Amino acid sequence: MKYIPYGRQCVDKDDINAVISVLKGDWLTQGPNITGFEEGLAEYCGAKYAVTFNSGTSALHGAYYSLGLGEKDEFITSPNTFVATANAGVYLGARPVFVDIEQDTGNMDVQKLEKLITKVTKLIVPVHYAGHPVDMEKVNNLAQKYHLHVVEDACHAIGSHFKTGKTGACQYSDLTVFSFHPVKHITTGEGGAVLTNNKEYYNKLIMFRSHGITKENLINEAEGDWSYEMQFLGYNYRLTDIQAALGLSQLAKLDTFISKRREIVRAYEKAFHDNPYFNIPVEKDYAYSSYHLYPIRLKDPYKENKKLLFNRFRELGLGVQVHYIPVYSQPYYQNLGYTKGLCPVAEDFYQREISLPVYPSMNDQNINYVIETIFETFQEIKE
Ligand SMILES: *Cc1c(COP(=O)(O)O)cnc(C)c1O
Repeated sequence: MKYIPYGRQCVDKDDINAVISVLKGDWLTQGPNITGFEEGLAEYCGAKYAVTFNSGTSALHGAYYSLGLGEKDEFITSPNTFVATANAGVYLGARPVFVDIEQDTGNMDVQKLEKLITKVTKLIVPVHYAGHPVDMEKVNNLAQKYHLHVVEDACHAIGSHFKTGKTGACQYSDLTVFSFHPVKHITTGEGGAVLTNNKEYYNKLIMFRSHGITKENLINEAEGDWSYEMQFLGYNYRLTDIQAALGLSQLAKLDTFISKRREIVRAYEKAFHDNPYFNIPVEKDYAYSSYHLYPIRLKDPYKENKKLLFNRFRELGLGVQVHYIPVYSQPYYQNLGYTKGLCPVAEDFYQREISLPVYPSMNDQNINYVIETIFETFQEIKE
């Protein structure tokens, strides 16, 4: 039986040829494909600058660093995310504060943000869960009121829109972060990027990903053409040209990928609307989702059978997954003093959530198999 994963990359002949031509050329890293991919990303999103990184995680680290996040600072984010959203701030000695989520979108509940803001809050990090944008206008209003920075963790959400603006345009944020891990919309194997309209953040990001080194704006007088300065402690977080060529080739297909995802979602909606077993994803009137995930939420009696359902789906070849175990429930965060019960809606969401397969190369047969298997399995459980 064929296994249908919850997500997978879509790499074709053009992508492969793009990578091969880099391997035959002069630049394996720090060459023209990096520039090309960065310009392509900035243009696609409608932002001034894009800086590539070797992962979404290192891109988040760079984003937080460039805004000056550091020790004794707090940043507010969602518990319904991958651990990297919080970890990247912990790298800098800052403390994540988790705001509870909306039960329908799984996004941070913006109504609950304000009372978590303190004198040491520096940053708000909305995560566009499953590809559905957070209400960025409301986040931005609070940020303005309290003089906070905003970083969008858009690792799920390249190609989505908030109202008429594209995610990554940074209309309501300082910086936006993407990931190019193979389960995300477009891939470079591993990789990430930060988008911004701010030259100062751009310069910091460029240095941060390369040891904190620059050849421009030197603090001391240049001794010669060889001169460079390390002005702060950076990392080697660079993407290679091999990866950037893949990214650039994938970027050209992003809108087609998203259309395919939305077609699959329409098929699911047609089959699953008004079903007695689970709630399906919503799309708010302010949102155009890029559907990185298709998270269903089990209704009450079935919530108790989640493990059984999950195992049965897997047995039947549906590569379902769960997104997410609330970040603060992880042993590392429990050891830091975060306790269960902190975000009850996120904990309830976790108990109910199962992500169904959605990726551009799913064919009608795959889609129908998912739908039939889901109904049959619930039928089975009922009996
Ligand atoms: C994938 C992901 C990351 C991390 O990206 P990597 O490229 O895997 O390092 C961060 N945040 C979210 C929400 C993600 O889905």
